Amino acid sequence: MEKLVLILGGNLGDREKLIVEAKKNLQLKLGSIVSESKIYETAAWGGASEGNYLNQVLILETDLEPLYILQVIQSIEQSLGRERIQKWGNRTMDIDILYLGNQIIKEPQLIVPHPYISERKFVLVPLVDVWPDFIHPIHQLSHVQLLQQLNDDLDVLEFIASS
Ligand code: AMP
Repeated sequence: MEKLVLILGGNLGDREKLIVEAKKNLQLKLGSIVSESKIYETAAWGGASEGNYLNQVLILETDLEPLYILQVIQSIEQSLGRERIQKWGNRTMDIDILYLGNQIIKEPQLIVPHPYISERKFVLVPLVDVWPDFIHPIHQLSHVQLLQQLNDDLDVLEFIASS
């Protein structure tokens, strides 16, 4: 079994409910969730998006092939995005593969570890929750170390559910 680390995020619709739905689908189709970060709220970056994002990192255990995993997460994104008002940058559900164990994958459609890990606070903060001392197979630094050296002043705040 490999540890599959995913990040879920969305800034449209009922963001919390969509995360719950995505997790149900992921468990059914890919494998058990063995660990989950807190949910964080982050201001949309890059200027193209409207609402704040909710993000959560999950660790699953799976024996499935990387490109099959990518197909599954894309089909879940589509099924949860059916009712979205399509606008670039805004999305109901985005699921990215951060790691698959220590594998380094460079396919045209799939790069693992995900290239943005070391550059985005909204990824590193939840990664520190679930796996602080995992050594990034390319940078050879832990998540704690990567977060310490990051220059990103975006607010990544723990999300407190309203209900
Ligand atoms: P987006 O949904 O805009 O984040 O980008 C999705 C595209 O990124 C898809 O076409 C994937 O083939 C590609 N991609 C490359 N590496 C990854 C990864 N590690 N996780 C998810 N999608 C990836």
